[in-house]
Amino acid sequence: MLCLDHWIAGARDHGCSDRAGTVYNPATGEAAAEVPFATRDDVDRAVAAALSAVDGWSRTGLNKRTTILFGFRELVRQHAEELARLIVREHGKVLADARGEVQRGLEVVEFACGIPQLLKGDFSENVSSGVDSYSLRQPLGVVAGITPFNFPVMVPMWMFPIAIAAGNTFILKPSERDPSPSLMIAELWAEAGLPKGVFNVVHGDRVAVERLLEHPDVAAVSFVGSTPVAKHIYETGTRHGKRVQALGGAKNHMVVLPDADLDLAADSAVNAAFGSAGQRCMAISVVVAVGDAADRLVPLVRERMRAIHVGDGMRPNIDMGPLVTKQHLERVRRYVDEGVAAGATLVADGRDLPNDTDGFFLGPCLFDHVKPDMSIYRDEIFGPVLSVVRASSYQEALNLVNASPYANGVALFTSDGGAARTFQSEIQVGMVGINVPIPVPMAYYSFGGWKDSLFGDAHVHGVEGVKFYTRAKVVTARWPQSAVKGKNLGFPS
Ligand code: NAD
Repeated sequence: MLCLDHWIAGARDHGCSDRAGTVYNPATGEAAAEVPFATRDDVDRAVAAALSAVDGWSRTGLNKRTTILFGFRELVRQHAEELARLIVREHGKVLADARGEVQRGLEVVEFACGIPQLLKGDFSENVSSGVDSYSLRQPLGVVAGITPFNFPVMVPMWMFPIAIAAGNTFILKPSERDPSPSLMIAELWAEAGLPKGVFNVVHGDRVAVERLLEHPDVAAVSFVGSTPVAKHIYETGTRHGKRVQALGGAKNHMVVLPDADLDLAADSAVNAAFGSAGQRCMAISVVVAVGDAADRLVPLVRERMRAIHVGDGMRPNIDMGPLVTKQHLERVRRYVDEGVAAGATLVADGRDLPNDTDGFFLGPCLFDHVKPDMSIYRDEIFGPVLSVVRASSYQEALNLVNASPYANGVALFTSDGGAARTFQSEIQVGMVGINVPIPVPMAYYSFGGWKDSLFGDAHVHGVEGVKFYTRAKVVTARWPQSAVKGKNLGFPS
């Protein structure tokens, strides 16, 4: 079996742990690789490597830094297909989806290539006679990223391109369930000429994470994962004096008004609910159908679900792959059982899917007449389970969405521009789609939810990402030839 390594100080490093995890191919159920779980000492070595690289890298000219970034971008493009195949093998999503993931990650690399523009400060001449003021943005030092399984390339790329472009050094702790792409990324960085220690990978579980959170030489932590862990990361990291952005889970609603284009709404609901087997933080997991929309929409959704082909994501013509692990499959199946027991109508039962493999497959499931107190409504299931809740009015739908503790993404489907404008203003959610089901912002905007979907002040990438990985300094300067000399004990004004 393939044995993976950490990547520390520009080289593979097996570490000194006797603990390891098994990485599965979810489509076959077979063990694909063994991943070492870093000890505290392994993490300390990675931090030491990153710390020793920080001075040199932060002083490297912007021109040279961007040259390396452009080279990295080119190498990722050249190896995009290999990266996508690695994603499919360990995550299970279909190849086209994995290619899309690499592309969305690349967009952040391209955004980071514009770092000279993004780091430009302000300059005010003559704020007082002969005195100028100007602002700088400087890197923080060693920063860490802890990432989830569902986007093993894109989510790390929300973080490290900008962090590194801004002059920081980076330690990535990827998900232990699909860790291989991170090593390929490390090798591409090295090939692009990134100095040793600027980008490091440590694999592992909470032992590695806890050490990163408390390590005095780690200045900031970016986290993406489930809400309970995000909250813990935020609380622990900030207690240790770090800057932390921790993006959590989601339960995204799609509100459908009776005047919506229901064919578009049905297509969108199916694509956004069942793409990547529902394992997306921007997946639609609840349709809130207003008025008579549900009676017309549910049959359209059901009809489209019949055309979803479930299978190994590497095979052509497959629309939906397996769930990531056997444990996760069992958890999602339990939610379907609970939905039935709670009295929701199971319109399509993915548990019936014929499966002659050991892969972790579940077919798409659709529930109608779901009530807000049911666990299938309340909890993030993170699987191919779509719930339809019926609301009698726009106001009832709005109140329902705004009462959710999660607030990552939301979508409204309507033909009424006035209703859409009211909705975008009144909805308490971080990312809003109008007739767009998965409103993932482009790299030059920032990504992030509200409430329990994000702990901290800064969203990822875009301008907020640049701010997160830098700190501001303002210089007020006067040069001797114009200085007013002599005694003046007053407050400068
Ligand atoms: P997870 O929270 O289980 O794991 C995320 C990371 O945290 C992994 O690297 C894992 O090793 C580490 N981790 C897990 N438990 C830990 C613990 N107790 N202490 C310290 N570290 C721990 O999440 P996941 O299952 O890998 O990913 C799915 C979750 O991520 C979903 O909830 C999904 O909504 C969320 N997600 C959110 C966004 C977003 O932008 N808000 C994006 C992608 C995924």
